[in-house]
Amino acid sequence: MVFGRARLVSTSQPAAELPPWEQGPYSIKRHGLSISNCDAEPVQTPGCIQAHGAMLVMRRDDRIIVQVSENSAAILGAAPELLLGASISVVVGVTGELRLRDLMARTATDANPLYAFTMEPRGDAAPLDVSLHTIDGVAIVEFEPVAHGGGIPKDGYELVKAAVGRLRGATDLQHFCTIVAEEFRELTALDRVLVYKFHEDGHGEVVAESRRDDLSPWLGLHYPAADIPQPAREIFRQLWIRPVPDVDGELAELVPLVNPDTGRALTMTYCALRGPSIMYTEYLRNMGVTAGVTMSLRHGDKLWGLIAGHHYSGEAHLPLPVRAACEMLAQIVSLQHQAVEAQEFLGYRLKLEGVHQRLIAQAAREGGLAAMMDGPPMLLDATSATGAALYANGRWSRVGVTPGDDELDALARWIATRTEFQSPTLPVYATDRLADAYPAGASLTAVASGVLAVPLSRSRRSLILWFRAETAQAIRWAGNPDDKPTVPGPHGMRLTPRRSFELFLESVTGRSLPWQSVEIDMALRLRTFVMELVLSHAERVADLNAELVRSNDELDAFAYVASHDLKEPLRGIYKYAHQLRDDAALQGAEQTVKLERLMRLTVRMDSLLDSLLHFSRVGRMALTMEVVDLNSVLAEAIEIVDARRSERRNEIVVPRQLPTAFCDRIRVREILTNLLSNALKYNDKPVCMIEVGFAEPHEQGNTTGRPAGTRGLTAYYVRDNGIGIESRHADQIFNMFKRLHGRDEYGGGTGAGLTIVKRLVQRHGGEVWIDSVPGEGTTFWFTLAQATEH
Ligand code: ADP
Repeated sequence: MVFGRARLVSTSQPAAELPPWEQGPYSIKRHGLSISNCDAEPVQTPGCIQAHGAMLVMRRDDRIIVQVSENSAAILGAAPELLLGASISVVVGVTGELRLRDLMARTATDANPLYAFTMEPRGDAAPLDVSLHTIDGVAIVEFEPVAHGGGIPKDGYELVKAAVGRLRGATDLQHFCTIVAEEFRELTALDRVLVYKFHEDGHGEVVAESRRDDLSPWLGLHYPAADIPQPAREIFRQLWIRPVPDVDGELAELVPLVNPDTGRALTMTYCALRGPSIMYTEYLRNMGVTAGVTMSLRHGDKLWGLIAGHHYSGEAHLPLPVRAACEMLAQIVSLQHQAVEAQEFLGYRLKLEGVHQRLIAQAAREGGLAAMMDGPPMLLDATSATGAALYANGRWSRVGVTPGDDELDALARWIATRTEFQSPTLPVYATDRLADAYPAGASLTAVASGVLAVPLSRSRRSLILWFRAETAQAIRWAGNPDDKPTVPGPHGMRLTPRRSFELFLESVTGRSLPWQSVEIDMALRLRTFVMELVLSHAERVADLNAELVRSNDELDAFAYVASHDLKEPLRGIYKYAHQLRDDAALQGAEQTVKLERLMRLTVRMDSLLDSLLHFSRVGRMALTMEVVDLNSVLAEAIEIVDARRSERRNEIVVPRQLPTAFCDRIRVREILTNLLSNALKYNDKPVCMIEVGFAEPHEQGNTTGRPAGTRGLTAYYVRDNGIGIESRHADQIFNMFKRLHGRDEYGGGTGAGLTIVKRLVQRHGGEVWIDSVPGEGTTFWFTLAQATEH
């Protein structure tokens, strides 16, 4: 808006037509512009000046005039044809020429306009301020009528000193910018002064303003990057001040248009009188602005922003000393702004770090990362994110506005594949336009146009995500600069603030404010803290585990010894009972029955001891891990349960090929054999239907009873249409010797099968659970840890 021209592609312009400046000597006055080519317009060589002053171009060495503004007769009293080829002394007199020569000899005048002297008028014309700078081997002499300062002191130093004193009192960046706006308005006496900041993506925002009370506020307005095209930005990287004292003023062309010595157009970057772009003046006019001045705010050679002054009540000729003061102040403000920003940056960094440390302390005290979400403080504090989500221990904790669990699952899976996220040194993924890279992000732009993610574990399954909403949703449209009806100029509505804002909104669709480097840094630091915490936690858990393993080992050893040793006397009991029965057959039926019962009991006890023995071995033996084709393992398991299959009609279906898994082949076969044999046993339907399959992590959305820790793992299942299991027994069935039925119902069993299954699955780092509807069937699910985890 402030300096604007737009990048719009006109469909009416024939593609072959060259822009005016490529067709020959160019002047904006003569050729003008169309909205389609303004972005490439040579604003540094417009061939024209603002006609309230006059300009001469002379050779440096002999001070002969080579170019003159066409209005020289009106301002300097001599027409161009009289001046061209003459000495500069014709205009400024011999003393004037000497002064200019001296100035060039003694001072660095290159690209540095300096006030030379004030020339007394001829007749009753106003005195003229003469300034000079050199560029490309020529000297440019500018003549401007002395402005009536209206009581403004001539001493630039005094003006600047007072302003700098007030700037020093600034408490933060916002306060600083507000003082800047106020000081420049005080200095220039313009109706409105704006401090305009460029964001990383090039779009601009009004961060401070000082205005006449009756004007509507523009603070907080945003504008598309195209509003200040690249050529204009380039000029402001080189120039501190740019006045346009009369937006409706005439333009005066240079005579001749190109330097006769070089045949080149004059570089007018540093000319105070340089003719402004037609787009720029049209835009200003559409806003009702009658005069303007722009100053640059830089960090080093980077353009940080602009200070723009607007006047709505006629011309505004700033006296040279005021302009010099503005220029000096703009330089001081640039330096000081950098210091204030660095301080604020440090403050933000410290604040973030403080919050993060408190978060870690909180998580350490409460023994879980999820405590970072319970707050205060919370993950959202200190950052300007709109939402955050943490995935740890198989579940999401969320704060603020975030996508839902399933969307988070999918997003986390996608982020894990990003190269940046996999970096061994700085694993972080940050974007301010998620949907551009992640198609599913298109439906998330309102909450998650911006995402910053760091992993919290080596497997990258635990992570923290911060979200930023779409900028367009967050932007405030404070006030309406369109509230006074304006008549759009020849280029139509485009060059109006309202249209400009609409274009801005288009440009930020699907985008958030970008992540600052300090935010990315602090996210990585938080990650380090969290990982240290997790590590120390893991060490504690490892200690406890070692203890547990020891007592488990002792238990296993005991079970082994007990079952092994008990079998010995049991065999004896059986043998004697056998003999006694043979003898008792002679004595009577009653004793025979008792002895037969005793023998059955010993047989049963023997099989219980076998199960116990086997179970203790399952806990003790080493696994032989390898990549295994589960299809062949299943085929073997089916073969093993073949005998039981012949007992009833049944069908085993495998809907799709099973994947490969990293596991112990024999043990997984045992898992499948147990589950298949149960599925065949506990069934009362005419045809026993069994399905064996698997679900990828993203397919497991609605399996009930799934433990949280199994998210992200492939789950395998054996499903039957059998008698089902009531949910209250869902856990008990995995207990040793737990049977839900009479010993001899459904083919009998020891009640150890599922205990062994569970132990085997756990030995693989997986989990087992069921999903069952009594009377309809049961699905046994189990996971095996991922190959990469080993
Ligand atoms: P068992 O050797 O008795 O089969 P398990 O440990 O294999 O012992 O199973 C424990 C109990 O769980 C069984 O007694 C049975 O009641 C129940 N059960 C196991 N599998 C199924 C199934 N597929 N459908 C219904 N109930 C089952």
